[in-house]
Amino acid sequence: MTSKLEDFLTAREEQQIIAAIKSAEKNTSGEIRVHIEKSTEKPPLERAKEVFWLLKMDQTKLQNGVLFYVAVDCKQFAIYGDRGIYHQTTPDFWNAEKELVLNHFSKRQNVEGLVLAIEQVGEKLQKLFPFTSDDTDELSNEISKG
Ligand code: CA
Ligand code: CA
Repeated sequence: MTSKLEDFLTAREEQQIIAAIKSAEKNTSGEIRVHIEKSTEKPPLERAKEVFWLLKMDQTKLQNGVLFYVAVDCKQFAIYGDRGIYHQTTPDFWNAEKELVLNHFSKRQNVEGLVLAIEQVGEKLQKLFPFTSDDTDELSNEISKG
């Protein structure tokens, strides 16, 4: 089965995701990005790591970028967090977020799952990397598409 990226998220839903990212980043210096593409032959986490580097997400000052990666054809999903955040969290946290998103995908609640996980990861980032007045938007909030 093949599907188009627009079938996965409508333009309006993309805006909801961008709004969730903006809102999360108001409280943290961490940076969240979402990348969606049709498919991958690699394990999703491996591909997520690759995209993370391609998007230069490794270049944040505090190494606190987090990538949400989706391959829509097979509804594969992974979250890749940079060293700064990864070292201060447990695998349980990321697994729970991943399950949350996949659960919503299986119910065709694509945008709900992503927005919820963005909010929760945002709260985690807020605790570990509080917003500071000199913060800049280091990484675009737009959805990146492969
Ligand atoms: Ca920032
Ligand atoms: Ca950003």
